[in-house]
Amino acid sequence: MVNVDARTVLLLNASYVPLRPITIRDAVDLIMRDMVDAVDGVAARLNTTTTVFEVPSVLRLRYYVNVPLRGAVWSRRGVLSRDHYTCIYCGATVGDQQRGKTLMRADLTIDHLTPRSRGGENTWSNTACACRWCNHRKADRMPHEAGMKLLWEPKRPRTRYLVINGEVPEEWKVYINL
Ligand SMILES: [Zn+2]
Repeated sequence: MVNVDARTVLLLNASYVPLRPITIRDAVDLIMRDMVDAVDGVAARLNTTTTVFEVPSVLRLRYYVNVPLRGAVWSRRGVLSRDHYTCIYCGATVGDQQRGKTLMRADLTIDHLTPRSRGGENTWSNTACACRWCNHRKADRMPHEAGMKLLWEPKRPRTRYLVINGEVPEEWKVYINL
């Protein structure tokens, strides 16, 4: 989890893929070392003795950094992002009507295919996004025991998910899939 208040500059790889939010201090350090180019926005204005120095809100590394794709760390938010907030059993997603209610993100939960009560773990292949109704219906059973089919096979994602808490600056949104 990253707190946007403390880290207000988004660092992109040379390929424009977001790497991570960094602090103003780290941003200034990278700028001083000529390692980055400004991409968008202004995160802060720093007064020096002679001038006002603008720290961009989005920076891009001049040299490509190889980020291993295998290292996707499991998280609830990561699973929901991977599954695009879509229920693996009924396909319902945010904005759909279900039981007279418009589905919100809060209605989409994490389902353990092998229930935790039977030793099912928090892994990419054992968890998927499920709406609260399907999750309730399945309860402490395996999908086949509940007669519920998976619409896809949950897998470890090939990309890393940037999990960010708090308000995201407008100029970041183009670079992050929210
Ligand atoms: Zn569902």
